[in-house]
Parts: sequence; structure tokens; C-alpha cells
Amino acid sequence: MTIAIDGPSGSGKSSVSKGVARRLGLAYLDTGAMYRAATWWCLHRGEDLADQTAVAHAVRVMPLVMGLDPSGPTVHVDGTDVGEAIRSTEISTAVSAVATNLDVRAELRRLQRAVIEAERTPSGFAGGRGVVAEGRDITTVVAPDADARVLLTASEEARLARRSLDVHGTADAAAVEATKDQVLRRDRDDATVSQFQVAADGVVTVDSSELDLEQTIDAVLAVVEQVTGRVVGPRHGS
Ligand code: C5P
Repeated sequence: MTIAIDGPSGSGKSSVSKGVARRLGLAYLDTGAMYRAATWWCLHRGEDLADQTAVAHAVRVMPLVMGLDPSGPTVHVDGTDVGEAIRSTEISTAVSAVATNLDVRAELRRLQRAVIEAERTPSGFAGGRGVVAEGRDITTVVAPDADARVLLTASEEARLARRSLDVHGTADAAAVEATKDQVLRRDRDDATVSQFQVAADGVVTVDSSELDLEQTIDAVLAVVEQVTGRVVGPRHGS
């Protein structure tokens, strides 16, 4: 089974996607982490992010290894564990410049499709059971033929508060203000190359504004059951 989940920043898609993958025994692919790793790699090599050709070349030769365990996903570039470094404010601020490079997108999509394909085979992380892949263009471009496709949304207020808690440990007014660039500006830039704010045909919207994590995972599992016709197990607490 391939499950595709897209959404804006702060929609909770990483936590929800990991939770869904764990419940279903599937692999987990964080495609945002791939764009973040590409940004880390370019900065590490001293590339000028405005030089589209140099950035695209750097990404084509990037030795990237994604660990697909939803209980402990990992990201290595050239043998370095960049799992923490790619969450820094520096990377969050710079990533859209790399992700709006169309040659970079073509290369990372190729890698993403290869992972999804490998997860259909017994040698995959989950022994061929499949993968939950999340990002901005998974439901529409990377895996439009996925078994289930979900757009995870939340109100702007909920998204800012969540990201602010993640990054600053609080959602007071000053912290929310400081988070706006990472949420609103980044989504505006990202939206110039991907369509993740309105569900495409056949993609089911789940609004998590009023739901906690477990309730959102349950809501996504309900969509998976509904669109695949497969029973995927007991709900949380049942
Ligand atoms: O989801 P996350 O915030 O980690 O994504 C980081 C960045 O990666 C996004 O802001 C966007 O620029 C890019 N991205 C993308 N396409 C995807 C996933 C992420 O352009 N499928």
C-alpha cells in the first residue's frame, strides 16, 4: 500500500504520517527532509543558492541515504547524520530557494519514486507492505496513483501555534510572530511550484485544527479504509 499525504507547514503531517505508518507497519518517507538535506548539502559545499545550475548539479551528486523507520527516521548525507542540522532555522529559512529550483525537484522526485517503488518489493524496509510518503506534491505529482491520498490542513492559527511550540517551546505572541517566516512566507514561496493548499481531484481533505494527534491519525486511517475498502485495524482507544 502507498499512502500519500500533503499539507502546509504546521499541519502536523510529519507526526501524523509517522503515526499512520507505525499503525500499519509501513515505511515512512519524509520528502521535506530530502529538500532540507539538499539545502544543508549545498550550504555545506559553499554553493550560492541563487546559482540554479550549481545547486542542481550539487543535488544530482548528493550522497543521500534516507532511513525509513517511522519510529526513528534518519537522514545521512555523505555519511554525516544531518537529522538535527536540517531542522535549524537557517535551513528552514533557506529551503524554499532550493525547493523552487525545478531541476532539483526533478532529481528529488526521481529519488522519491525510486523509494516508493522499492517499498513495493519484499526487499523494502517494510518487507513490501508499502510506504507513507509525505510532502507538498506527493498526492499530485510524485505518487498520484497512491492507494490513498490525503491533504492535511489546519487553520493558520493552529499551524502557527504548533510550529511555534515546536521551535520555541511556547506559543506566546512573540514566539508566534517569530515563527511567521517559517510558516507563512515559506508556504507562499513553496506554493509557487506545488499545489498543496487545496485538494486535487480524488484527494481527501482532513482538517486537523480541532483534533489532537491521535484523533488526526484515526481520521487519516478512516480515509484509508474508505478509499481502499481495506480494514486497517482498531482505532486508538478502541
Ligand atoms: O515538510 P517540511 O517543512 O520539512 O518541508 C521543507 C521544505 O521542503 C518545504 O518548505 C518545501 O520547500 C520543500 N518541499 C517540497 N516538496 C515536498 C516536500 C517538501 O518542495 N514534497
